[in-house]
Amino acid sequence: MSQLDDLKAAIKDRLGELDCVIGWEQGYDALHATPLFIRSEADLDRLIIGPLAVHNLSTYLPGLKGKKVGIVVKGCDSRSVIELLNEKLINRDDVVIFGLCCDGVVSQRKIRAALSADPGFVESVTVGADDLKITVAGQNATLKLADVKADKCLTCQHPDAVLSDVLIGAKHGAPALASLACQDEFEAKSDAEKFAFWQETMSRCIRCYACRNACPMCVCRDYCIATSRDPLWVSQENSPTENMMFQMIHVSHLAGRCTECGECERACPVDIPLMLLRRYMNKQVKDVFEHQAGTALDQTPPLFTFKVEEERIHERGW
Ligand code: SF4
Ligand code: SF4
Ligand code: SF4
Repeated sequence: MSQLDDLKAAIKDRLGELDCVIGWEQGYDALHATPLFIRSEADLDRLIIGPLAVHNLSTYLPGLKGKKVGIVVKGCDSRSVIELLNEKLINRDDVVIFGLCCDGVVSQRKIRAALSADPGFVESVTVGADDLKITVAGQNATLKLADVKADKCLTCQHPDAVLSDVLIGAKHGAPALASLACQDEFEAKSDAEKFAFWQETMSRCIRCYACRNACPMCVCRDYCIATSRDPLWVSQENSPTENMMFQMIHVSHLAGRCTECGECERACPVDIPLMLLRRYMNKQVKDVFEHQAGTALDQTPPLFTFKVEEERIHERGW
């Protein structure tokens, strides 16, 4: 049986005890997936997995707290589920986790860049072992999967779901540690250069909040200080300073909580490289607190605790 057949069989077994199971189905065209809420066996026919099933579905879980929900997760998505559990934003007894052993997903941005013209409506996509055959307006294009993989998959340390009730597929070995050239280049900059880079980059931000809305760990929703009017913390003025203020609030609220799922960057309509900032912050948290969000159960995010003197920060020695 294929991985998809195994997954369908596993979901079918548990569907009766659940309000729904969240997976993916084909979206408005053959290249884009969209979340699927499976409530009956008939819905299972529409389920897809593979490199086009990109969304981190755990972003729906806090809003469904109290319901019995199944969720299909890749390795990276499972880290978000663990972090939500550790922050008590969801209950373990209410969630059935269908974990996948994942071979990576595509970046729509890289696909668009690799094609000679904007693909518009894609009629069909065939996913091969190493390539993607795309048919647009009667024309065929073949792209190597390795060339259009999402950046997060190039450095992935957890391809197999870290936490699951059912694990589907063959496990991968522990991947070698890798870093992205763009991250190394960014980290080699001086503090002044980093600041200048973000000032310039954030001047493109249109404050649409898609990055916040796509993030599984941005759970304040209606109480977010970026949009609160009473009290008014940040104005809606579209200036680099106010944009930067929003981004600084966002990244500091995610310090030690961001699971590097990449959804914020994927959602950004103006291609702001948000993951540079997220990875950089996560690196600081790892260095100082030896903490990586969503990699183990029963961890408390470091900024959820307070000690007069942190063991690894020698305040008085600064
Ligand atoms: S980051 Fe890892 S688990 Fe997530 S989609 Fe890429 S390969 Fe799969
Ligand atoms: S900040 Fe971005 S990478 Fe981090 S958890 Fe949120 S969406 Fe995922
Ligand atoms: S998604 Fe992009 S443009 Fe929208 S608020 Fe976030 S960084 Fe700004």
